Amino acid sequence: MPRIINTKEIVSVIAELAKKACYELDDNFMDALRSAYQKEESPYGKDTLQLLIDNGEYAKKEQIACCHDTGTCVVIMEIGQEVSWTGIPLFDAVNEGVRKGYDEGYLRKSMVRDPLNRVNTGDNTPAVFHSEIVSGDKVTITVMPKGGGSENMGAFTTLVPAEGAAGVKNFVLKTVEQAGGKTCPPVIVGIGIGGTMDWCSWIAKKALLKPIGHRNPDPYYAKMETELLEQINNMGIGPLGMGGRVTALDVHIEYYPCHITALPVVVNLQCHASRHAAAEL
Ligand code: SF4
Repeated sequence: MPRIINTKEIVSVIAELAKKACYELDDNFMDALRSAYQKEESPYGKDTLQLLIDNGEYAKKEQIACCHDTGTCVVIMEIGQEVSWTGIPLFDAVNEGVRKGYDEGYLRKSMVRDPLNRVNTGDNTPAVFHSEIVSGDKVTITVMPKGGGSENMGAFTTLVPAEGAAGVKNFVLKTVEQAGGKTCPPVIVGIGIGGTMDWCSWIAKKALLKPIGHRNPDPYYAKMETELLEQINNMGIGPLGMGGRVTALDVHIEYYPCHITALPVVVNLQCHASRHAAAEL
């Protein structure tokens, strides 16, 4: 017997999650900023981190956006395979939720209807919507507003498989170095390795949702994460590019099987406005 959910039910859930995500950086992220402050050696870097901590605390207290760029609204749904939908089409309901949240929350509308003619849609729709079918009869909704500055500095490549782990690391380090302060560091570095072009981008995005401090369960990739984190923090870019030891708060790798001829790699960078909020239906 499927569990029947009317798509209208998700509208207000998504609206509230959009506001919460933009107003409240989660405890995991705020704690990481506070420990970065303790670690930072550069006076400019330390001052900058203190400003970011104050900003995050103030936004939460006053329930206002922690950054003016409230981003492209990425909505991710894990849908139990026993769920059956009624009502308006699911993607329409997602967009209705985004429209409502961005309107009620006084969040900046940043989406243009057409990438070349650039007319603002006026309500921050459409969302970028990902769905995954999972077991059970629950639905988990994650709303992840993604700022333009950090998203713009991500990169994709397809390496020759023989380039291996060294090639992947070089590509990641080059991408972070070229981005410099434009990503509003400290960043979280999401890395996708494998799959196809599209899947590799998706898993790199998903990697950004992992809590800071979480290590890949595979020791090989966990080691690569910690090595890259150390190398990135030795670059000297520092908080907001002001110089210092803390350029990244963490590095997360997601990998997936791929074709024998291919080694796709995507780097997706998340700025210090690391916003996401989730709810279960
Ligand atoms: S990159 Fe992030 S912190 Fe910087 S302006 Fe954009 S959303 Fe804000």
